[in-house]
Amino acid sequence: MTRNAFTETLYDAYGQRFAIDEVYFEHRTDHQHLMIFHNAKFGRVMALDGVIQTTERDEFYYHEMMAHVPLFAHGDAKRVLIIGGGDGGLLREVLKHRSVEHVTQVEIDASVVEMAKTWLPGHSKGAFDDPRFHLVIDDGAAFVANCQAQFDVIMIDSTDPIGPGEVLFTEQFYGHCDRCLADGGVMVNQNGVPFMQLDEVRKTSQAFRSLFADWHFYGVAVPTYIGGLMTLGWASQTPALRQQSIEVLTRRFEDAAIETRYYTPAVHGGAFALPRFVEEAIGL
Ligand code: SAM
Repeated sequence: MTRNAFTETLYDAYGQRFAIDEVYFEHRTDHQHLMIFHNAKFGRVMALDGVIQTTERDEFYYHEMMAHVPLFAHGDAKRVLIIGGGDGGLLREVLKHRSVEHVTQVEIDASVVEMAKTWLPGHSKGAFDDPRFHLVIDDGAAFVANCQAQFDVIMIDSTDPIGPGEVLFTEQFYGHCDRCLADGGVMVNQNGVPFMQLDEVRKTSQAFRSLFADWHFYGVAVPTYIGGLMTLGWASQTPALRQQSIEVLTRRFEDAAIETRYYTPAVHGGAFALPRFVEEAIGL
């Protein structure tokens, strides 16, 4: 990494490079190395431990798909649990749903929340001040292991399975999440880019298979998560949620009157169609 460029270190053999116009913040927190800088093409960019987490330009792809696919499939989610997601972009999208009465967000690193409020205000757009929102600074795995509450939707907006995020990719963790899901609930999580990280989707599918009556993955191609299609995991004890018709999704979307830039009911339906090599990796 030179003074005026950031080269992502997620992969040994390949890395994307961002020119840096200005560094807003760079610090080793208690948990990870956090950097927020400006790039002419992507706007403000946040990296953790040398890995791009989110950019102003393309964050909506990921946050809309992680929020609206489970929430419109459920149709009446009142209680939502977000694990990770310290930048607030996912929270912003979740709170657009009027049915949602309560969101607990469990983020391990208070500095990410504080610095995102300061340097990435367009991500949360005031969502951290919503009275429905409750922030817990803790390890998401420890939180669900001790949690007695139940949630209609659980969203795991984690880093990659390296460092503090590793515990969020274990069967034990998913089992605790299952216990915290209300009847008719669904959990979604980020599972990397299969072209680059096929093992992630493979391992998650093995864990989901042993725990959930219905599980699958759905795709979104986020430009800065290099390698093409990224997979988001889907796990529920209620198979009907994944089978919602386009008519039902369209009615819910229109009734909600939520403005989106990526999500549409048609994108929702199509996102569950996976390339053959991904189906093979997850044993379908
Ligand atoms: N929202 C994002 C996007 O657009 O892809 C990026 C991911 S978000 C910044 C990932 C968050 O997960 C980070 O803020 C990190 O601190 C948090 N995290 C990592 N491990 C965690 C753990 N074990 N428990 C709770 N949060 C964790």
